[in-house]
Amino acid sequence: MNISITKTTNPQVKPDSSTLGFGKVFTDHMFIMDYSADKGWHDARIVPFGRLAIHPASTVLHYGSEIFEGLKAYRRADGEVQLFRPLENIRRMNRSAVRMCLPEIPEDMALEALTTFINLEKDWVPSANGTSLYIRPFMFGNDETLGVHAVKNATFIIITSPVGSYYKEGINPVKIMIESEDVRAVRGGTGEAKCGGNYAASNRAGERAEKLGYSQVLWLDGVHRKYIEEVGAMNVMFKIDGEIVTPMLAGSILPGITRKSIIELLKSEGYKVSERLISVDELEKALEEGKLEEAWGCGTAAVVSPIGELCYKDKKFVINEGKIGEVTQHLYDTLTGIQWGKVEDKFNWVYKL
Ligand SMILES: *Cc1c(COP(=O)(O)O)cnc(C)c1O
Repeated sequence: MNISITKTTNPQVKPDSSTLGFGKVFTDHMFIMDYSADKGWHDARIVPFGRLAIHPASTVLHYGSEIFEGLKAYRRADGEVQLFRPLENIRRMNRSAVRMCLPEIPEDMALEALTTFINLEKDWVPSANGTSLYIRPFMFGNDETLGVHAVKNATFIIITSPVGSYYKEGINPVKIMIESEDVRAVRGGTGEAKCGGNYAASNRAGERAEKLGYSQVLWLDGVHRKYIEEVGAMNVMFKIDGEIVTPMLAGSILPGITRKSIIELLKSEGYKVSERLISVDELEKALEEGKLEEAWGCGTAAVVSPIGELCYKDKKFVINEGKIGEVTQHLYDTLTGIQWGKVEDKFNWVYKL
């Protein structure tokens, strides 16, 4: 693959890593590649970070033809930089592309684009505790016409942003509201694709929950409105009577890489892990019987986020006295340990640059 590189003549001063938030500062360059039905993927280039010029009729602006990924580059104590399961992100992006009628990118091409670009921006990977370089690959349909159909042109871009520690004040369990009006996805819809539209449609419930003092919403299935799906931009897991349970992937849930890694890790340690239907009623009953032991969300941004309270209509379910549970803490320590190179990587998840 031929990637042309144009370096910035105007590099920024890198921010102090103790001041980093999420997704506000971007690195000096971006990777761009175009697709057309006749040429395939072409014109791969790394250019100075800056605004894009797109046609006002571009498909993405009208019909929401967009998918994205999210992963991180971590700086180890020895100064080396590593990624966590990047091929999983590339494969998921291609599955999202198929769902949204966008072109797939051959795995080796996508991996080369990613590693070439991250190597160029390596100095931007921060080293303070808990910080990382967030990587956002995304693709959009880019035909210059208002006709509604599968696109013949697309653009793939990677941007990167140094991000601060998710838990600046320590890991505090969050309060989550179970959403009983809006739904995020139904089987056959786009719930299992990482596409922008899913987020646009979920903001309303998120805003409502925030006004009531909850940090995120927990989505129920769109048909029966009783089975647990996921939390905001995280998958969700529970420990009920010693067993780890998480909703099965049946078309409406985003197949998280953190979710997959946790299932593999816990199974290797001898835990019983079940992917199945979980109803709100089951959680309520388990809570009454003292068997709802732990709950947590999981995703790349937070790794694991303990849930201290769930609110369903007028009922409040307080879990583990609102404190982080043992398994939740263990998962956080093990996964972040592997990601930052402090814990042995028995699973071969780490990809060194
Ligand atoms: C990205 C995402 C997740 C988490 O996936 P990871 O690969 O673990 O980061 C979960 N739910 C939704 C809706 C997401 O977009």
